[in-house]
Amino acid sequence: MNKILIVEDEPRIASFIEKGLRANGFIPTVTRDGDEAISMALGNSFDLLILDLGIPGKDGMAVLEELRGQGEQLPVIILTARDNIDDKVSGLENGADDYVTKPFRFEELLARVRVRLRHSQSPRQQDELILSAGNVVLDLRTRRVKVGDRPVDLSAREFTLIETLIRHPGQVMSREQLLDHVWGYDYAPGSNIVDVYIGYLRKKLGDDLIETVRGMGYRLQS
Ligand code: CA
Repeated sequence: MNKILIVEDEPRIASFIEKGLRANGFIPTVTRDGDEAISMALGNSFDLLILDLGIPGKDGMAVLEELRGQGEQLPVIILTARDNIDDKVSGLENGADDYVTKPFRFEELLARVRVRLRHSQSPRQQDELILSAGNVVLDLRTRRVKVGDRPVDLSAREFTLIETLIRHPGQVMSREQLLDHVWGYDYAPGSNIVDVYIGYLRKKLGDDLIETVRGMGYRLQS
């Protein structure tokens, strides 16, 4: 399992990323401070760093410079509200591998994390990029889905929703948990969007796959 260091000073965003990564099988650690980020990144074997630029202590760009200056090679994805082109260019020149601009959707960040980790993965970990439940098979690398031998087209949200359920076998996931994992912090509370998407998945993947647990949420059929 990949260890990811999240450097982010906004608690809501830090917790949103942390929960999302954990739900997707990563081991996240959060710090909100630039100086602490440097010592953690140098002292531990993280596989990837998600780095906010506007943070207490050394700012994100200084953190990146210092890490690269000390020969630290771990992949870095910059995460920031600063969306002007100069920041992007200097971030990439300073040795960042990728750049995600706030506001962002979790699935976008997740896709970039996976791309960055892919080349360093062993064959065994590559195997874990295939998930299945019953006769439904998800290839996390290509984002392709099959029911038996039949390929099925899923939207990005549908894919992330079924992926989240498959990663929690036998567990009832509440609407709030699913909103958190799949839609992130950017949704209207009380929205019925989860139910709508569960309906789409049942149409595409079969009625029996996802069970409604009344008053609680949804569960993958065992
Ligand atoms: Ca910040």
